[in-house]
Amino acid sequence: MPKVFRGIPVSEGIVASNVVKYSSPAVLLDSIAEADCRAGENEEQRLLNALETFKSYVRGVMEFVDESERELLQAYILMAEALVNECIEIIGSEKVCGELAIKRVYEKYSTMLKSAKSSLIAWREADLREIALSLIKSMISGDSSKVVAELRGKIVISEELTPMAFMELIRAGIRGLVTVRGGHTSHVAILARSHGIPYVVIPSLKIDEIPESARSVLDGFEGTFIVNPDIDVFARYQKKSSTVSRLMDKLRKNALGRARSLDNVEVDVLCNVGNLEEARSALSHGCDGIGLFRVEFLYASGIPPSEDTLFNVLTRVAQMYNEKPVIIRAPDLGADKPLPFLELKEENPALGLRGVRLLLEYREELLKPFLRAFLRALSHHSNLKLLIPMVTKLNEVYDFVSVLESAASESVGASVLSKLEIGVMIETPSAALIVDKLAEAPFVKFASLGTNDLVQYTLAVDRNNPRVSHLYNELEPSVLRLIKQTVDLASRKGLHLEVCGEMASKPMAIPVILSIGIRALSVSPRYVGVVKYIVNNISISRTSENLAFAPDMEDSSKVLEKVREIYREHGLIDLLELYE
Ligand code: PEP
Ligand code: MG
Repeated sequence: MPKVFRGIPVSEGIVASNVVKYSSPAVLLDSIAEADCRAGENEEQRLLNALETFKSYVRGVMEFVDESERELLQAYILMAEALVNECIEIIGSEKVCGELAIKRVYEKYSTMLKSAKSSLIAWREADLREIALSLIKSMISGDSSKVVAELRGKIVISEELTPMAFMELIRAGIRGLVTVRGGHTSHVAILARSHGIPYVVIPSLKIDEIPESARSVLDGFEGTFIVNPDIDVFARYQKKSSTVSRLMDKLRKNALGRARSLDNVEVDVLCNVGNLEEARSALSHGCDGIGLFRVEFLYASGIPPSEDTLFNVLTRVAQMYNEKPVIIRAPDLGADKPLPFLELKEENPALGLRGVRLLLEYREELLKPFLRAFLRALSHHSNLKLLIPMVTKLNEVYDFVSVLESAASESVGASVLSKLEIGVMIETPSAALIVDKLAEAPFVKFASLGTNDLVQYTLAVDRNNPRVSHLYNELEPSVLRLIKQTVDLASRKGLHLEVCGEMASKPMAIPVILSIGIRALSVSPRYVGVVKYIVNNISISRTSENLAFAPDMEDSSKVLEKVREIYREHGLIDLLELYE
C-alpha cells in the first residue's frame, strides 16, 4: 500500500529510488549518562579541539555557498563558540565530561527555544541541536554509518543528521534525504541546497514503520514523500526526476537575472516570505524584492510584539534588501491566522473579524504600535512599502490612513508621510470590484491580488478544507474574469498591480496571469527560478493572443489546454512534464 507523507520542503528536486535507513547520531545525546561521565585531565582541551574541528569544517563549507548562506554559517560559528564557553564553565565547576556539559547546555536552551512556539525559533532549536551533536560527534570517534556502497543512489531517511555525517553521505552518492528533525535554516539544509540534494523534513515520520529498502519517491518542491508508490506513480516520478536534473541548471541560471520575455517585456519577480530567515534565503534565490512580508510570526506567542521588536525586524529586512522594494503587510490576523492572545469566538471566522477589520477594531492595542514601528523604519529606509490586508470597503482605507496619520504625529512626525506608499490587498470580490475607487484613497499607489483568499471568496470554497479542495481552482473562468476586471479598473487609474497569492507560483497559471496584463509576481522563493525561466522563454504578446478568451471559456480544463499549447509552441515541454 502506498503511504504518502507531507513535510517541509527544504531543498528542491525530485528523486525516485529505494530508501536506506541511516542510524542517526541523535542517540548519542540520550546515551550520555551522568554517572560515568567525569572530566578527564584534558577535558577543556578536548572540547576546544572539537570546536576547532567544527569551525574549520564550517569555514570550508562557507567557501562554496552563497553570500546569504555564509551569514547563517557565521552565526553557526558564533553559536558554537558561545555553547563551548558555557560548557567550559560547567566543566570547571562540576568536573563533568565535555559531552555531558554539551548535553546540559543544549537541554537548557532547547527547552527555552521550544517553548517559544514560533517557527523561526523552532528552527534555531534545530540549529543548536545540530551544533551540539556535531561537537559531541567530534569528541567521540566512530560512526554507525552504512557501507558506502549501500548508499549510492538512495534516499536516506534518518531521525536527524549532523553536517559532517551528511557530507559523508553526499560523498557516498546519496540522491535524496528525509529527516524527522531539522529545519530550513539548518546547516544540513544549506548543504543539501548547495549540493542539489532534494531534502524534506517530516516531523510525523515514524522511521521504524518504513520497510528497509522500500521503493519511494521524494519531491523536494512540494515536500512529499511517498513510500511504496504504485508502479505508474514511480515511473512518472522517475521521468520527472530526469527532467528536473536537466532543468535545475537552467532554472538556477535564470533566477539570477531580471525576467524579460522574448518580446522584451520585463516582469518583476518578487518573493513572499514569513520571517527574516526566509527573507535572507529569498535573496539567494534571486528575487527582485519582497512582494509580501507576512509579519504574523511576530504575533504567534502569548503577547503582541513590542513596538521596538517590530521596528527592529522591519529595519533589518529593509537593510537586507538595500535598494530593492520590501512590501510589509500589516498584520493579517483572524480567521485562518488565529491570535493566541485574543479569543474570537466566531461562528464563521472567514467572514468575521479579520485583516483590516480586526486592526481597526483594536487600533490602539494592535494597529498603532505596528504603524509607529513601520513609520520609524520607513523614516530611515525608503524601500519599505505598506500593504493593507483583507480590504472590502473604501472607508476601511480612509480609517486606516487616519490611524497612520496619528501614528506619524506620535512618532517621527508627519513629514515621513511623503515617503509613504500604500497598497491594498485584493482578496475579496468586493475589493476587486472597487479597485478604481480604492486607488483614489490617499497614499494608495499599488494593489496586490491575494488570490489565495480571492479564489476562496469568489468560488465560496474554503481554502483549507480538504473536502472541497477539488473545487478550489484559480483557473476557473469566474476567477479569471474578476482578475481581468481588476486589471482593467486599476489600469484606468494607473494603479500598479501585483499578484502575491500562490497562483503566481503555479507554472500552469503564469501564462494566464501575464496574458491578463500583470507584470509583477510575488512568489515562494523556491519558485523564482522557474517563474523567470517561463517569462524568459515565452512571447507575452503571442501568449496574450492565445489566451485572450480564457476568462470567457467554459471551464478551467479548457484554459489548461491553451496553456499546454503555449508551452508546446515555445518548446517548454519539460515544464509540462514537471508541473502538470
Ligand atoms: C492571499 O490571500 O492570497 C495572500 C497572499 O494572503 P494569505 O495567504 O496570507 O492569506
Ligand atoms: Mg489572504
